[in-house]
Amino acid sequence: MKRILPEIETLEQHQLQLQSDPDAYRPERCPHCGKGGMHHHGRYERNTPRGEGMAFSLVSLFILRFYCPKCHRTCSRLPACLSPRRQYWWKSQQAVLEQLISGESIHEVARWLWPSRRTIGRWWQWLEGKSDVHCLHLRTRFPELGRAVDWKAFWSLCFDRMNLGEAMGWLDRVEVIVP
Ligand SMILES: [Zn+2]
Repeated sequence: MKRILPEIETLEQHQLQLQSDPDAYRPERCPHCGKGGMHHHGRYERNTPRGEGMAFSLVSLFILRFYCPKCHRTCSRLPACLSPRRQYWWKSQQAVLEQLISGESIHEVARWLWPSRRTIGRWWQWLEGKSDVHCLHLRTRFPELGRAVDWKAFWSLCFDRMNLGEAMGWLDRVEVIVP
């Protein structure tokens, strides 16, 4: 659905973008009816995600909202660092997933990284469960990722080339639902 604005890697970058060029967040077309000409339509506040070293922030996280004059619906786009449906930065999720890929157990990872064992377990299941569709689309875009022996090796290769937020941004662009 192209919900993610690439290259905005931190909350600070997002704040700067809102001050200097908020139009970058304006979708080219309405995701509902496909027409152009979306208007600015206020903003909403999102909880600042949790994550390693970023547990607490004084800065409010505002997301711009846009309105479609044709179908009267609204939509918004998120900075690349933000996971649309999870309360953790992509960066924190990647830190966890990389540990698991390298062979650490969920129990071990949960001992010293932020999310609970249950959350970590869910992320891990998601990564494995969606690996076919993720690999397919990312390999189409980045053929050099095609040489991995299994899905864990695939993600390991992928993280050498790009971070999780970037990879999810590419998947979002081809209409894969990202968490
Ligand atoms: Zn519309």
